[in-house]
Amino acid sequence: MIFETHAHYDDEQFEEDREELLRRLPKENIETVINVGASFAGAKNSFALAHQYPYIYAAVGVHPSNIEDLSEETMEELRTMARDKKTVAIGEIGLDYYWDKEPDVQQAQREWFRRQLQLAKEVSLPVIIHSRDAAADTMTIMKEAHAMGIPGVIHCYSYSVEQAIEYAKMGYYIGVGGVVTFKNAKKLKETVAQLPLKQILLETDCPYMAPEPFRGMRNDSTYIPYVIETIAKIKEITQDEVMITTRENARSLFTRVK
Ligand SMILES: [Zn+2]
Repeated sequence: MIFETHAHYDDEQFEEDREELLRRLPKENIETVINVGASFAGAKNSFALAHQYPYIYAAVGVHPSNIEDLSEETMEELRTMARDKKTVAIGEIGLDYYWDKEPDVQQAQREWFRRQLQLAKEVSLPVIIHSRDAAADTMTIMKEAHAMGIPGVIHCYSYSVEQAIEYAKMGYYIGVGGVVTFKNAKKLKETVAQLPLKQILLETDCPYMAPEPFRGMRNDSTYIPYVIETIAKIKEITQDEVMITTRENARSLFTRVK
């Protein structure tokens, strides 16, 4: 059974067939799904989905590109949702300097990232980290998070092998999805080769990041076996071992999952 640690089934790309698709997941060997909020509305929708399906859990948080959603009031609502038994993480939170180049916007991203880490600490939940073009600042802030005793995962990992190992040494997990199946994903394949399987989590980031041979199409959790197949090949182990160990990893990080 597969533990899918990062999906966005609240996305409008699932508008037409969301219910049919979500009902089918357990039959497709998907045991557990974490639906991750990327905006404040996304956090609320994730929370609603988690209360609709027993095998779906919510991560509530606001993505760095959507920090305009955040205020004292919305932070309070996130806090309320975070205390619910179907909320298993704070995320996705972090830094994204790819779209936002202005120093003051980046400064605001760092502030809201730290505020949401504080929230995770307060409610004793792990964090799901989004980071793009912000390797050094993310590492600095995650060292603070580590010192605060906050566990978590670096989702859709895209940085160097060395930094992945540094995260792993702090106990952080590395989220691996469809990108690992791409021919040109040399760095990520090398990261997967060098990291202990104990530090890897499976994810889709759906509807984005569909694996080969579906690259560019709408992604969903039923494509995770293509990611498993690639990881098994890289590490020269069985697909079952990948599935079982990553499930154990996810269950030891997201301890509120039943
Ligand atoms: Zn995501």
